[in-house]
Amino acid sequence: MSAPSISIEAMSKRYGTIAALDGVEVHIDSGRCLALVGESGSGKTTLLHSVNRLVSPDRGTVRIDGRPVDDWSPEALRRTIGYVPQHGGLLPHWTVERNVALVPRLLGYSDATRRARAALGAVGLDPGEFSQRWPRSMSGGQRQRVALARALAADPGLVLLDEPFGALDALSRADIQRLFLDLREARPFTAVLVTHDLREAFHLADDIAVMRDGRIERHGSVADVRARPDSPYVEALFERAGVAP
Ligand code: ADP
Ligand code: MG
Repeated sequence: MSAPSISIEAMSKRYGTIAALDGVEVHIDSGRCLALVGESGSGKTTLLHSVNRLVSPDRGTVRIDGRPVDDWSPEALRRTIGYVPQHGGLLPHWTVERNVALVPRLLGYSDATRRARAALGAVGLDPGEFSQRWPRSMSGGQRQRVALARALAADPGLVLLDEPFGALDALSRADIQRLFLDLREARPFTAVLVTHDLREAFHLADDIAVMRDGRIERHGSVADVRARPDSPYVEALFERAGVAP
């Protein structure tokens, strides 16, 4: 799939008295990476999940290249979207190769195993060495590489990532951030990257949306938002993170 544009329109979702999303509007141009940042509980995961229909909103629509996501069944939709859930989401009782081949197999590709091995190579894991390993026998950084390989194995045009590098030590994190940039350069895809790390957002994304209590407080290109927080709340957030302009 070529890299689609994404439009999130008037998206609202309540859980009891909590407005997890409150009228969110965001557009992502084809091939761009949007970082969703904000404090814990601000609605980042809920917004990400509204794109692949893990959450059904009370109001609002998500369009992929103009087409509402409700046009697909949730299962068919998810097979077209690469997804790295928080904590990686690898199935512990499946080998690395079987984990990575999951979506190509669901799509009925006869070369699912070959694709899985190619995806492992693309994330810097030798398939000869790692295919038959178990997720628990690997380091945190290696497991997150496997999670990336699994998201990319079917060559999706859109990839969603929920704090994918959050739990890693500083060195593994720097390595996998470099890998993410290389992967995007090698084969463009549209990406939504949830992160609580503003430095990571500035480094990896083209655009940034700062969430606050289920709303978008500030949205723009990284260069623009970084130079002009344009909101006392965002300014304070940047100051606390040591990234104030
Ligand atoms: P973030 O990813 O930014 O930490 P979330 O999107 O997970 O935030 O959550 C936004 C708000 O919605 C939080 O107050 C959270 O407690 C609430 N929430 C999220 N999912 C559920 C759920 N399944 N049931 C009840 N409340 C939820
Ligand atoms: Mg979250």
